[in-house]
Amino acid sequence: MTTIEEARRRDEADPLHDYRERFHLPKGVIYLDGNSLGALPLATRDRLKEVVDEEWGHGLIRSWNDANWIDLPSRVGAKIAPLIGAQAHEVLACDSTSVNLFKLIAAALKMQSGRKVILSEPGNFPTDLYMIQGLQQQGLAEQRLAAPDEIEAALGEDVALLLLTHTHYRTGRKHDMARLTAAAHEAGALALWDLSHSCGAMPVHLNECDADFAVGCGYKYLNGGPGAPAFLYAAEKHHIDAEQPLTGWLGHKQPFAFEDDYTPAAGVERMLAGTPPILGLSALEVGVDLVAEMGIERLYAKSQALSEFLRECLSARGVELDLVSPDDPSERGSQLSFRHPEAYAISQALIARGVIGDYREPEILRLGFAPAYLRFEDMAETARHLAEILESREYERAEFNERAAVT
Ligand SMILES: *Cc1c(COP(=O)(O)O)cnc(C)c1O
Repeated sequence: MTTIEEARRRDEADPLHDYRERFHLPKGVIYLDGNSLGALPLATRDRLKEVVDEEWGHGLIRSWNDANWIDLPSRVGAKIAPLIGAQAHEVLACDSTSVNLFKLIAAALKMQSGRKVILSEPGNFPTDLYMIQGLQQQGLAEQRLAAPDEIEAALGEDVALLLLTHTHYRTGRKHDMARLTAAAHEAGALALWDLSHSCGAMPVHLNECDADFAVGCGYKYLNGGPGAPAFLYAAEKHHIDAEQPLTGWLGHKQPFAFEDDYTPAAGVERMLAGTPPILGLSALEVGVDLVAEMGIERLYAKSQALSEFLRECLSARGVELDLVSPDDPSERGSQLSFRHPEAYAISQALIARGVIGDYREPEILRLGFAPAYLRFEDMAETARHLAEILESREYERAEFNERAAVT
């Protein structure tokens, strides 16, 4: 059986196959970058039209109450909660991942008097490290970096917080959340997990792992749209002690009492700062509903099957690439990263053929598998394109070697 026939057989047997119809996917495009910007759910267009025309246009300011706009951060947070193993009242959809990191790192530092070190790993996503460095510049934090297998040894008595990204954006490698959170606690540190490349692609068990804090992205696997609001999680046990420095009025106990003095809200709402972006949250809600409907376990199973099938198709075509992602699909997120000296030009040649993946420094061709809307047939086709590009050295063409601003 050729790989394309095998792909079609697998597509027919795929319980998520029909969900592809629920997304707008341009013709002739195989989209392998849903881990960077998720595709557009068709229902988002209808929902945004309704929010704009009816809730904003007609309802005007009445919609804060009538359309429950004011509850959107907690309503969408409650819907994200089961995807990450949290309780509904522990999660909020708000701000960007970067801003949520800042709030939670600062809150953790304040809870850990006498300890200033934030432990992370070299090569973590830049914004995670830059937020630590910003707090360091304010004199509040001290950054320490340890390679993955040296993290436990680096958890000294001065460590306030362990901050790690659960699934690495470049390699797709997954950390053992349960083990590392326990090690942090053993050393008297708190643990904050960045779930940007995990949420929506695999089950996460924050409560079970006893995680203290988490943040994650709304525009990747949750398909919330470009610049969608992010989310944050604070374990219930920290709702009294965790105090964040962006003490905007919506984190107040009674925002509409308009008091001069700040008193934080009793629950996770104390992590809010300013007025929520209603259009962005409305779009995110549609994306989250769709992920919940598809079921996170089914999405995860399919994401593993897709990436393994692509590898089979590549080896059937004799393509050997240097895989930097873990070999075992259970140890990686929903992506495969290959190292190649011409990775940038190869990614451009793929894009010219309608196969949209991306390039990450250094020398990494990154292919993401959003299981909600990709087919096994897309994997077989990707393998064919990649084999042809490598065989013919198509990537050597000058137009594939010019760098754009966003890679
Ligand atoms: C995508 C991503 C972010 C994004 O942060 P923004 O504030 O939305 O720009 C943060 N952390 C990680 C690990 C990411 O992958």
